[in-house]
Amino acid sequence: MFTKILIANRGEIACRIIKTAREMGVWTVAVYSDADAEALHVRQADEAVRLGPAPVAESYLRGDLIIRAALETGAQAIHPGYGFLSENPEFVEAVEAAGLVFIGPSAKAIRAMGLKDAAKALMTKAGVPVVPGYHGATQEPAFLAKKAGEIGYPVLIKAVAGGGGKGMRLVEGAPNFLENLASARAEAQTAFGNPDVLIEKYITAPRHIEVQVFGDGTEAVHLFERDCSLQRRHQKVIEEAPAPGMTDEVRAAMGQAAVTAAKAIGYAGAGTIEFIVDASDGLRADGFWFMEMNTRLQVEHPVTEAITGVDLVAWQLRVAAGEPLPARQEDMSITGHAMEARLYAEDVPAGFLPATGVIDHLAFPATARIDSGVVAGSEISPWYDPMIAKVTVHGRDRASACRALTAALRATSVAGTVTNLGFLRRLAQQPDFVAGNVDTGLIARNAQMLCAAPVPTAQDVAIAAVVAAEIAPGPLTGFTLWDPLSRAVLLSFGETFYAPRLVVQEADRVDVILDDEVVHLTRRDAHWGLPAIRHGARVTVFGPETFCFDVIDPLARDSAVVGGDTVLAPMPGLVRDVAVVSGGTVAEGDRLVVLEAMKMEHVLRAPRDGVVAAVSVAAGDQVTAGALMVALEPVP
Ligand code: ADP
Ligand code: ADP
Ligand code: MG
Repeated sequence: MFTKILIANRGEIACRIIKTAREMGVWTVAVYSDADAEALHVRQADEAVRLGPAPVAESYLRGDLIIRAALETGAQAIHPGYGFLSENPEFVEAVEAAGLVFIGPSAKAIRAMGLKDAAKALMTKAGVPVVPGYHGATQEPAFLAKKAGEIGYPVLIKAVAGGGGKGMRLVEGAPNFLENLASARAEAQTAFGNPDVLIEKYITAPRHIEVQVFGDGTEAVHLFERDCSLQRRHQKVIEEAPAPGMTDEVRAAMGQAAVTAAKAIGYAGAGTIEFIVDASDGLRADGFWFMEMNTRLQVEHPVTEAITGVDLVAWQLRVAAGEPLPARQEDMSITGHAMEARLYAEDVPAGFLPATGVIDHLAFPATARIDSGVVAGSEISPWYDPMIAKVTVHGRDRASACRALTAALRATSVAGTVTNLGFLRRLAQQPDFVAGNVDTGLIARNAQMLCAAPVPTAQDVAIAAVVAAEIAPGPLTGFTLWDPLSRAVLLSFGETFYAPRLVVQEADRVDVILDDEVVHLTRRDAHWGLPAIRHGARVTVFGPETFCFDVIDPLARDSAVVGGDTVLAPMPGLVRDVAVVSGGTVAEGDRLVVLEAMKMEHVLRAPRDGVVAAVSVAAGDQVTAGALMVALEPVP
């Protein structure tokens, strides 16, 4: 076994590999970019080497720097994780040329499966069923259109070099073919530097079922299947093992086909054979087709580990170190059912837009397996994948795994960035999913319910208000006999502003008046009915949905400044008075504008001494949040 390995990756997968290496007594070397200098994987590894600036082309894709780091630290092998250099045959060759071991398949095996067209030709030859379609070399549009007609619509155009759903277009009929072909080719050229495509029969009601394989270069076994049908934009969201409705007969046929595929290329290490399955008539031994092979450890490998009890990373290290396959096919069995949900920093209602931010708070249940590369205080930067964690549960059967998933997602909380947590919770309880009726269109069909933008309830706002007010426990100060303490709080949630008024009855009992509604709140165990935390000027309330409110401090905002030269409206409102004119001189603290917002008057004051360069508002104007009101310039 190696004594030291380098992990050429970041985030959760780097942490995942470190964990097993440590258990095996193998020292680990992390690599990092400047954006990751404080990252968890850097802290967890025994040693860490800086690669370069944040962009991946200058850091995690710099094979030369990674190999040099391995040589300098005395690592004997490099684990590539997934993504980045994991499926790059030139990198494998460079690693080997440097006298190091690549923990993964040979360059030859990666090349054989690297392009979808060549892989399909190879699989056809090996007798593995492939999706009917055209995957030849001719790329002439009129010719491809003719092939599409022969295959029969709907068809799928796929980039031969594709991955991550890029360069893929569904075409419903001949009139749309050429237009889609052009856009698929353009996207493929941009993403992969290769515009070539193949045409496939589009399977209606398709399921994505993949088989985990493991080879030692000669022999290969499979570790059963995973169902990854829950996808949005061809990207996996929740994965499970085994596949719902799988029969012994179909499992044997798919497992056999996957092992045949792996052996056909002398595969060594962990790999995945992805099949597309026609689920319109249940699972059938003649109803699955080879889609592609991923020649690496897969993101969703924890569900396989949960049902087989195998540590796939340990197997990777053992086989890379020259040991034979750790188990025979007949040793493998399935225990229970596992599900994994991918928690991302992303804005679901905005179309699953990746989000960024510093994680203020992060909590997971102890009952689930959590694979994560971040902790509270970590930043989700725009440079890399915005994954926060994978939440994996294991149950006796599918129903109990499903309940465990819902419970685990409920017990998960994140503050500091928007996440897909609410979406995952709704998905985990979607009736078709719960019943095991999954196909790749499930999320899109239910998008309205799953992706709706949640709106805070009066209770959410009220709890945010009391947490924002930070009412100290214990006897009330300033309490007057005839009038309970009353105070206003200003909150914003996105574009919506709230001005709840708190009537403090006792230190632990508050009435929150919101428009014409009154919410009565009682504090028990430092808790106002739902967990909520304040971090600086943000309050996050963790209910069925997570809501993050900005707390607007009218005193601080009176001198709202951006860059010191402009005074902006801190909230939408009505301009009551403008106290300055263009060209006038002001001293720090002078009153500039009075804004009426949310039934209160806010005085905006000069942030510093200066000359008024411009006044953009007049009394009576209605302004939006962020509108420029007064611009200042230095006193000459
Ligand atoms: P998988 O097929 O292993 O489930 P996905 O399909 O979700 O992975 O990922 C799509 C592609 O993006 C894969 O090629 C994967 O290697 C890559 N990828 C996913 N997450 C990351 C990440 N955090 N860093 C780099 N590459 C990633
Ligand atoms: P990528 O390399 O981008 O992962 P894949 O070939 O693995 O591309 O396909 C990604 C997803 O697209 C699949 O998981 C499946 O949901 C869908 N898909 C692929 N091929 C077909 C097909 N022939 N019919 C229907 N859906 C398909
Ligand atoms: Mg794929």
